Amino acid sequence: MRYLVLSDIHANLEALEAVVAIARPQDFDRVLILGDIVGYGADPNAVVDRVRSLHAHAIIRGNHDKVASGVESAEGFNQAARFAAMWTLEQLTPDNRDFLTSLPAGPLVVDDVEICHGSPDDEDEYVFEPVDAIESLRGTQRPLCFFGHTHVAIGYWMSADTFDVIVPASEADTEIELVAERRYMINPGSVGQPRDGDPRAAFGIFDSATNKVLLRRVPYDVSSAQAKIVKAGLPEGLARRLGVGK
Ligand code: ZN
Repeated sequence: MRYLVLSDIHANLEALEAVVAIARPQDFDRVLILGDIVGYGADPNAVVDRVRSLHAHAIIRGNHDKVASGVESAEGFNQAARFAAMWTLEQLTPDNRDFLTSLPAGPLVVDDVEICHGSPDDEDEYVFEPVDAIESLRGTQRPLCFFGHTHVAIGYWMSADTFDVIVPASEADTEIELVAERRYMINPGSVGQPRDGDPRAAFGIFDSATNKVLLRRVPYDVSSAQAKIVKAGLPEGLARRLGVGK
């Protein structure tokens, strides 16, 4: 089974379309979405429609999906995030809002894989540091767990006596060959608002037959996405950061 793994799309239609175009349907069997479909970007309805059209095998919610659909308050959000979430709440059609409110919380075990938005213990927790990853790896329900939320493509693995970090190559795609006695937490990065210094849209492909995860990047029309953010009256910083991937 080949899985297309998407996280943190953040209402960026240009980025999502670029990813779907390059990860052709013949390249994957199932789609897994790790949350934050909306928030920050200017195309919440078009992106939710596009996500729904992908007939994903599993989707879990992210913190922005909760706030932008009215499930949770914006407490804890910074000003730009709060503004964008409130704007998104106004924009969403009732149908798309219902779709977001109905998304389950992670973690979720899907076939032989676990997926979560933040960490396996807490959907809102950020796994930024090795110490957090080690803690999370101890609680995973499957040897492979995909997570999002940080918008940074990265991998962590742990065996009985070793722990290591997999930092993707900056230019080429990164292939991770999974080793049987190791446990992995892998973040495919963000489709719609990368923050690891590479502005290209990030996504992952997992092939359960070969036991390989591929972390990929694809360029997209950043200036169109930026222009829409500015035109919508969303904070300009949200447009600016797309250009630098930070
Ligand atoms: Zn996010």
